[in-house]
Amino acid sequence: MHGLIMERELLITDILQHARRNHPDVEIVSETVGGGRHRHTYADAFERTCRLAHALDRLGAKRGDRVGTLAWNTHRHFELYFATAGGGTVCHTINPRLFPDQLVYIVNHAEDRWLFLDTSFVGLAESLAPRLPSIEAYVILCDRDDMPDTSLPNALCYEELLAAEPDDYDWPALDERTASGLCYTSGTTGHPKGVLYTHRGIVLHAMAFAWPDSNDLSMRDAIMPVVPMFHVNAWGSPFAAPMHGAKLVLPGPRMLDGHVLQSLINDEGVTIAMGVPTIWMALMQHLRDKGGDIKPMNRVIIGGSACPVALMDAFRAYGVQVRHAWGMTEMSPLGIINTPRPEFADWPEKRQRAMDAKTGHGFFGVQMKIVDDDDNELPWDGEAVGALKVRGPWVCRAYYRGEGGDDAHDDNGWFNTGDVASIDEYGFVQITDRNKDMIKSGGEWIGSIELENIAVGCEGVAEAAAIAVEHPKWGERPLLVVRREDDAQVDEATLLAWYEDKVPHWWIPDAVEFVDEIPHTATGKISKLALRERFAGYRWKLREA
Ligand code: AMP
Repeated sequence: MHGLIMERELLITDILQHARRNHPDVEIVSETVGGGRHRHTYADAFERTCRLAHALDRLGAKRGDRVGTLAWNTHRHFELYFATAGGGTVCHTINPRLFPDQLVYIVNHAEDRWLFLDTSFVGLAESLAPRLPSIEAYVILCDRDDMPDTSLPNALCYEELLAAEPDDYDWPALDERTASGLCYTSGTTGHPKGVLYTHRGIVLHAMAFAWPDSNDLSMRDAIMPVVPMFHVNAWGSPFAAPMHGAKLVLPGPRMLDGHVLQSLINDEGVTIAMGVPTIWMALMQHLRDKGGDIKPMNRVIIGGSACPVALMDAFRAYGVQVRHAWGMTEMSPLGIINTPRPEFADWPEKRQRAMDAKTGHGFFGVQMKIVDDDDNELPWDGEAVGALKVRGPWVCRAYYRGEGGDDAHDDNGWFNTGDVASIDEYGFVQITDRNKDMIKSGGEWIGSIELENIAVGCEGVAEAAAIAVEHPKWGERPLLVVRREDDAQVDEATLLAWYEDKVPHWWIPDAVEFVDEIPHTATGKISKLALRERFAGYRWKLREA
């Protein structure tokens, strides 16, 4: 027997409608790309989103079309999120830090019909445009007065498009499983893979985002995502903020600028901020150098890479609570967060801090387990270490267009995260390692296999392995371990120079170590695990990454 409760679809459209009705005067404040601070309200944003939805219709958008964005965290990007999804198209947020071939690949793979871009990406788009046949128009996110001189074919001005349209829109009644957004994530091998979000997944994630033992977001908060809107929807905050009536503070392109972050926190009363450790180290450095405080800030969500204990202590000294979090593009992204259980309050300080330093606990909506090599579930005893698998209503069930094979999903609907973890008797997870051979530098992936393939192309290199080694500023940086051919003389400087022009500059390994033997696994693969153990605690030379 079915119950008699309404089956209203869970739609992104309803989030902004709700904010417009219930929190019309709550502000969205954003640092603009050109400089200066823009402010408007959820009511204003709703109207502009209606205009944008009309503009997309006028451009010929049909349900399911992909709309590409190359943009920072600004109010216009926020509007794009809602106008695309609400109208039934898909917002494809593109990471501008990928290198040109990858950008070309994902735009073509997604078959984006339009590219909405900040003025700062016009040069990049011009260089790619001849290789992007699916793009029908480039919409530049600026006023008419700021329109750059550009060779982009069919360049349109965003504000001009909006000005020509009415400020109400008849939003379609969509199926909640309709695709709403697309974000590509780098894989260990092959091309980036597309994660295709749904209205339902995004709405449920935005609800869970706010729970007290998650981010504890409410209308008493001002939230500042210092994680790009092209990184898993800025961790879901642009959806959660209007849903819960929180003020949204967007740092624009200046996310690594401690001065900008500090002034946004203080001027706008930011109570909660989110980002990768590298961002927060920049803020702490700035505070140490210039002084001042961050008084309004109550808590900071740090994830994307393991959070160093020293960073937690630094925030604590400013009266800011740190919530360590773990997630993935494939998980919308929230999966694990660290808030203390009530029984910890009676524990000695040292033991409490040790729990804070763990990755955190799960929450309703994400089931997790750790398994051994034969997929047997391992106990939650804080000792057993295994592959971390998850499933839930905001976890991706397959990659877009199934490209590149998919051995991450098993037959029982579990997704293998590629991370290795233990789980203790309190349900607290500790991520201990990673099975995927990727290096995460400042929150961005570097492909180790690509680095190795390039290295073995250099004369005198017999075998090479690129491994992630902890780095005080970037979280991890690549270390290249090389076995030379007999009698070869190739040295570090030659090898590092060999990378110039072959990969983005920030991918180039920070150092090269020459060894007599590279360890291998039973199946003959390079044992990254053995190498990571050998070079754990590696002391970087002083060269800046
Ligand atoms: P992405 O899809 O780019 O968000 O990357 C997700 C991956 O980042 C995870 O699978 C982990 O390998 C890593 N990661 C995210 N958060 C953490 C964390 N708190 N500690 C350690 N690794 C993390």
